[in-house]
Amino acid sequence: MEKGYKRKVTREITIGRKKIGAGSPILVQSMTKNKFEHPGLLKEEIRGLISSGCEIVRIAVTDKDSIAHVSSLLKEGFFNDVPLVADVQFDFELALLALEAGAHCVRINPGNIGGLQKTREVIKKAKEMDACIRIGVNSGSIDKKILRKTSNDFPQAMIESTLEYVRFFENMQFYNFKISAKASSVTDSIYVYKALSEKINYPLHLGITEAGSKFAGSIKSAVGLGILLYEGIGDTIRVSLTDDSVKEVKAGYYILNSLNLRSYGVDIISCPTCGRTKADLKSIAGEIEKITQKISVPLKIAVMGCMVNGPGEAKEADIGIALGTSKATIFLKGKVLKKVEIKDVFFEFKNELEKLLQINNVRL
Ligand code: SF4
Repeated sequence: MEKGYKRKVTREITIGRKKIGAGSPILVQSMTKNKFEHPGLLKEEIRGLISSGCEIVRIAVTDKDSIAHVSSLLKEGFFNDVPLVADVQFDFELALLALEAGAHCVRINPGNIGGLQKTREVIKKAKEMDACIRIGVNSGSIDKKILRKTSNDFPQAMIESTLEYVRFFENMQFYNFKISAKASSVTDSIYVYKALSEKINYPLHLGITEAGSKFAGSIKSAVGLGILLYEGIGDTIRVSLTDDSVKEVKAGYYILNSLNLRSYGVDIISCPTCGRTKADLKSIAGEIEKITQKISVPLKIAVMGCMVNGPGEAKEADIGIALGTSKATIFLKGKVLKKVEIKDVFFEFKNELEKLLQINNVRL
């Protein structure tokens, strides 16, 4: 990260085999969209999430039938390396069953799980199973008593609810928990997370709830999460999108990579094109994105529409192409490697990329 950045050092917690908080990397999380009724699709989604770099997977556990599915996913080894968070609303018994089945964490909102009495049972079970809890306070489900007390000031009510839950967890001497306090308003989310970060030292899971479509949701999340992350706040993140969960993971890494907080996978630097562009750069960039989407090692690829600003402007890229009038240039770290016919540029680029990746034992 750049000058002036200082990450808040939160208390370290454990979720499965992963650590959250303290000096651990900020982890990217997502939530599955397929239902347990379609186990094939759900398994495919989980495999896709994990291969795209998702580091914590959350699944909605909605009824007792879901528990058997949770058990078999765990037995089949889906979550040996990547922890599973069972998301439970309203029914505290489901949270107990999910923990007994081996879920590494349950996400509950004490405000809708039956109050502190039922929360106490979940804490006891998490202690017994050596699991983690995510306290998830949402702007849509705040304790009515606290809302009255704060005269319907939602952000303030979210802060007060969260602090009350934290005190309760501490009184029960349970500390293996993280907190999310998501609002659908970007500014409210920033306000709430900043206030919580000042008052408590537990890891914070950042997100903007109901953020929207791929385009709108990514932008809202990038603004909200970006501001908080830049201020050193946040230990795990999720970009919520009304779209494939794998896209949530990609968006999460784009946010972290752009702040130099992680360096995961391929970063394609492509120019916006202009009147100087001599070929269909958008298609070339799209093809390159497609063939590189499973690469997890950090790699910068430049795709530039002309030689004027080509290799020079993209000299930080590991490999790149710049289109000329009749030929295209392939360059490595700002130095020209070869000139090829524009019609062959994608094929030639792919060959050079494969050679470069062989050094890292990575295949396309
Ligand atoms: S790199 Fe060249 S083609 Fe691309 S926008 Fe800049 S001037 Fe135009």
